[in-house]
Amino acid sequence: MKLKDKIAIVTGAASGIGKEIATTYVREGAKVVIADLALPAAEATAAAFRAAGGEAMAVAMDVTKEDEVNAGVAAVVKAWGGVDVLVSNAGVQIVHPLEEFSLAEWKKMLAIHLDGAFLTTKACLPHMYASGRGGSVIYMGSVHSHEASLLKAPYVTAKHGLIGLAKVVAKEGGAHGVRANVICPGFVRTPLVEKQIPEQAQQLGISEDDVIKKVMLKDTVDGEFTTVQDVAEVALLFASFPSNALTGQSLVVSHGWFMQ
Ligand code: NAD
Repeated sequence: MKLKDKIAIVTGAASGIGKEIATTYVREGAKVVIADLALPAAEATAAAFRAAGGEAMAVAMDVTKEDEVNAGVAAVVKAWGGVDVLVSNAGVQIVHPLEEFSLAEWKKMLAIHLDGAFLTTKACLPHMYASGRGGSVIYMGSVHSHEASLLKAPYVTAKHGLIGLAKVVAKEGGAHGVRANVICPGFVRTPLVEKQIPEQAQQLGISEDDVIKKVMLKDTVDGEFTTVQDVAEVALLFASFPSNALTGQSLVVSHGWFMQ
């Protein structure tokens, strides 16, 4: 087991990529916190892990609200004594041409992706520093941390921003053994992407099949979606890597859509 007794908080873990990361971490022996806006789904996920013999707890957390983030992290520290791994994963998508984005939509996107990453990191770092064990901070970026697409101005902006944040956390955390890295997946068929397919078809005036083949998977090497398991394996690598040798990096897992 690569994460035996490590305490890991995964935001947005009631669905999609975050849920699979939580599943992988539980399998590898971690105590996992399912932190999500959707509390009933988070509780059901944690209960399923416990029923299967794992250790998991659910925490209600809107990552854009400082008091909820701080209360959630405090509850974890009270229950389990610290935090070793933070996966800042919660996210949403809104697609429009830039001139049709309202300021409220722009701010909402930056709040969830960037304020959420900042607030959860700020709440967890002191515990990682104090433990003497160091820790791993993992941001859920995207190919859109490196590349742009039509209709995604705030998402691309926010996902690029996470690379900068990770580099600062890597530098500040280094002396404490805290590493920070970014996972950059290509398209994964989660609810976030299923919702986008008809929206992009409508915005671009093409069929849903063409959105998949000619937009989402056009530049992959094999026309394949990335899977939640692919992303979870990278999250396991970053969480379990034993030294500061791997920090301040982003790793693209996208069937070759973007090559660094
Ligand atoms: P998803 O919709 O399946 O899951 C997102 C989860 O985040 C949900 O459980 C939702 O309740 C939660 N959430 C949303 N807003 C929140 C908030 N303010 N506070 C706390 N929780 C909140 O989506 P997913 O595809 O699994 O996406 C997870 C992450 O992966 C996102 O950051 C997304 O940008 C990123 N990503 C997804 C893809 C993809 O193709 N699916 C590709 C690259 C990156």
